[in-house]
Amino acid sequence: MGYSSYLCKHCDHGIMDAGSTDEGINEWMAHAVMMSDNGSRLIEPEYGGYSGDYERFDLWAHFACWELAGKPEFGAYDGLSKHDPDQGGGSFRGSHDMIDPRIKDEAERARLLAAGIKLRDERRYNHNAREVHEWMDKEDREYHREKFNGEMFRFRYTYSNCYDKDDEGEYTKREDRFAIYDKLDAERDEVTFDGTEEELKAHLSALWSAFLESDEHAAYLAHREAEIAKYRAEELEKYKIEGRFNITYGPKRDADDKEIWPVHQVDDQLQYRTDQEWFHGDGSKTRCMAKAKLLNEAWAAAGYPREFDHELFVEKVYRPLADDEESDE
Ligand SMILES: [Zn+2]
Repeated sequence: MGYSSYLCKHCDHGIMDAGSTDEGINEWMAHAVMMSDNGSRLIEPEYGGYSGDYERFDLWAHFACWELAGKPEFGAYDGLSKHDPDQGGGSFRGSHDMIDPRIKDEAERARLLAAGIKLRDERRYNHNAREVHEWMDKEDREYHREKFNGEMFRFRYTYSNCYDKDDEGEYTKREDRFAIYDKLDAERDEVTFDGTEEELKAHLSALWSAFLESDEHAAYLAHREAEIAKYRAEELEKYKIEGRFNITYGPKRDADDKEIWPVHQVDDQLQYRTDQEWFHGDGSKTRCMAKAKLLNEAWAAAGYPREFDHELFVEKVYRPLADDEESDE
C-alpha cells in the first residue's frame, strides 16, 4: 500500500495516500501542498497514486499544517522534505492517529479520536468476520485444500525466512528463523519463530486448530451470519416494494457490433439468475414486461417466499402475447 511520499515539513508525519487514511482520524494528512524552489506550487486535496507532476516538487507539507503556519513560501523553510519511510501508507500500529491540528479544543480532539478508533476497530472486526466466514465456506475450502496442499493454516498465517545482515551489508537467508504474518492481526509487531520449516508448519497447524475451536472463531462466524441475515432482510423488503423480477436488454450484435436482433430477458434479482426464456424479435420488450409483471404479482400472492419456482408458474400461467398485441417502446 501507499506510494512514494514525503514527510510534512511541519509535523514529520507523511503525506498520506488518501486510500490509506482512517475516516475521522487522519484524512487531513492526504490534503497536501507541494512546493519547489522556482516558486511553483501544487495543492493536492486527495494525494494518492503516482503522478509525474509530483516530481517537480521537493518540499511537501500537509495543507492543514501549512495553513496553521501562515502559508509560508518555499524560501521560509530550512530545507527539503525527507522521504516518508511508510511511503504514504496507512496507520500502521496507530502511528498516524492524529486529529486535524486546526481543531484546537482538547476535549473535542479526544472525542474525535476515540470515535475514529472505534469506527476503525468495528471495520476491522467486520472485515475479519467476513474473511473467517469465507475460509469456512465449503467450496472455498475444497479449492484451497488443493491449493494449500492440505495446510489449512495458510488461510490465516503466512511466513517468510528471516535474513542476517553482515558487516558489509550483505544479507544471508536463514533456514532456522521465520517471520509469521497473521491476516487477522496485520498490524501487530512482527512475530518470529526459531526452528526448522517443518517445526514451524507444525506450530502453525496447532495454532490454526486451536483457532477453529476457539470462542473467537465462533464469534466471528456468528457476527457474519447476523450481518448476512440483516442484509437479506433489507434486500427482501426492497424487492417487495420495487418488484423482484425486472427486465434487462441485451441485443444480439453482428461482428461490427451492429444490433441485428433485440433481446429482452427477465431477471430474478433475489436469486441473481436470468430467466432461461429470452424474448427476441419484434415486441420482445412488451412480452418481457408482461412476464415480469405476472411474476411479481404471483410472488406477492404467494407471500414473498425466498424460494419461488417461477418456471413452473410460467408454464401454468404465462401466455405469450399474440403478434397483433405487441406495442414495443
Ligand atoms: Zn503536517
